[in-house]
Amino acid sequence: MPMKILDVPCLEDNYSYIIFDESSKQAAVVDPVEPDKILQVVNQHGLHLNLVLTTHHHWDHAGGNDKIKELLPGIKVYGGSLDNVRGCTHQLLNGDTLSLPHTNINILSLHTPCHTRGHISYYVTATDQHDSAVFTGDTLFVAGCGKFFEGTAEQMYQSLCVTLGSLPKTTRVYCGHEVFKLLSL
Ligand SMILES: [Zn+2]
Repeated sequence: MPMKILDVPCLEDNYSYIIFDESSKQAAVVDPVEPDKILQVVNQHGLHLNLVLTTHHHWDHAGGNDKIKELLPGIKVYGGSLDNVRGCTHQLLNGDTLSLPHTNINILSLHTPCHTRGHISYYVTATDQHDSAVFTGDTLFVAGCGKFFEGTAEQMYQSLCVTLGSLPKTTRVYCGHEVFKLLSL
């Protein structure tokens, strides 16, 4: 029952990601800033979208949450407890865990502050697989990190080098901007 990840380019250079289980078709989405586009991909793959994982409160990440709640009433919207995330229904602290219903996919909330006070990175694993993925929003990019809007250099060091740096070396990194632009240069 492999875990699959689809990237959905949004806005100018944002990336939203759909995480799903191939057998049960249950899915989660990271930062669905353009809900119509997300639901098109969800429908194309015959998926059932259960929950939204918001990395941080900035509009280009959380700005689609209200709309996706309108389109999919009852959907759970997660976000960091220290960020005022638009449309959030479930606040997360560092170390909180959740699972995608009817799958073996588990999600760990990692508080990675500095870009925003309550920024969350999501570490996602499937119990029958060795590989894992982390969704780093605007904390970690391909060749750098996000701006220090609401935190200190010490916090960014902790977020990058301790919190994210402690994940298994095989973890795949999915960031909120840039990645495919860089690859296509
Ligand atoms: Zn941001």
